[in-house]
Amino acid sequence: MMQMTEGLVSEPEMEFENWRELAACVRLDEGEVDFFPDPEDVGAIAVAKAVCATCPVAEECLAYAIETNQSEGIWGGLTAKERARLRRRWLERMRRAS
Ligand code: SF4
Repeated sequence: MMQMTEGLVSEPEMEFENWRELAACVRLDEGEVDFFPDPEDVGAIAVAKAVCATCPVAEECLAYAIETNQSEGIWGGLTAKERARLRRRWLERMRRAS
């Protein structure tokens, strides 16, 4: 996961519309996998994370979720709680850089 942290950038390399086209989740049938599971549903979370693990744009997805403060769902293979830690670090980094 450290690698993902290091890969966070202030500007996503690709625009949201462009990377979304390449996302593994958009190739699934609607409702096939729940990317907004109950935070306590470890089984559903594991299924969503398994899809993210195959996704070629997971880095862009994670960076987008952190920068836009997505507070629910699985983005870039991480839960909201897992992203919150990264967002705090990202905000600190942004403050230091300004
Ligand atoms: S990382 Fe997961 S949620 Fe994000 S675009 Fe890829 S499959 Fe979808």
